[in-house]
Amino acid sequence: MTRDIILSLKGVSKRFGGVYANQDVSLEVPRGAIIGLIGPNGSGKSTLFGSITGYHPIDAGSIVYEGRELKDLRTAEIARLGLIRTFQQTHVYDDLDCVKNMLISRPMRKGDIATLMHRPTARDRARAEELLEFVGLASKRHLMAGSLSFGQQKLLEFAMALMNEPDLLLLDEPTAGINPTLINGLIDRLRQANERFGVTLFVIEHNMRVMMNLAQEINVLAGGKLIARGAPKDIQNDPKVIEAYLGGQ
Ligand code: ADP
Ligand code: MG
Repeated sequence: MTRDIILSLKGVSKRFGGVYANQDVSLEVPRGAIIGLIGPNGSGKSTLFGSITGYHPIDAGSIVYEGRELKDLRTAEIARLGLIRTFQQTHVYDDLDCVKNMLISRPMRKGDIATLMHRPTARDRARAEELLEFVGLASKRHLMAGSLSFGQQKLLEFAMALMNEPDLLLLDEPTAGINPTLINGLIDRLRQANERFGVTLFVIEHNMRVMMNLAQEINVLAGGKLIARGAPKDIQNDPKVIEAYLGGQ
């Protein structure tokens, strides 16, 4: 059976100076799936997300999303196509409350930021409130984002990403810095976003337990190259993967 592929990378390479952060990476993300990306620190995971979402030009290869080449498009254009990422370090607006953060996080919408923030449509307003509730931040909605804990900011960033109604969401270490007791709740929400809203998820995750529970298929990077791909339990026992992690310590 052929798979319905939403994102396909072929031979993607990205150098910073003389160093390859990604080298000849080819992988596929099937529509509707939850796919993982793991690898030791510095193996090029965040760089790959930056390449996919137009944050920096790639040196070689192709990135096809919904049948369309992305490599020459800009970040905002890519976001408008429904491909959204979150960051390892959170990108929220500290001096705005949670609701305003939600309202201005819509790059696909026409109109300037002041209009989005001060005269939101009823639909945007309702969606902002609904998504804050979904991530468990309803009671914090009028607090400044800068006053939230790092973990709460990650939840807010997740809600902001959903505000864009993504078809494909790239999450860069969504559970990092989140209180361990809240991690299960977050995983549930990631799954619900996938099941209820139909969002395809491509997730970088450091916590192997989380990844094993969440992803249907895992890609492994080491030294910028893809060294393995497969079902979580195969990846966990793959000698190449174990060696990459031990070698990286
Ligand atoms: P990971 O997310 O897997 O920890 P990164 O993609 O952040 O890895 O980094 C991969 C490699 O690329 C590292 O050696 C890092 O130092 C380098 N790198 C990442 N971003 C930049 C940049 N903007 N400029 C120069 N080097 C970078
Ligand atoms: Mg990273």
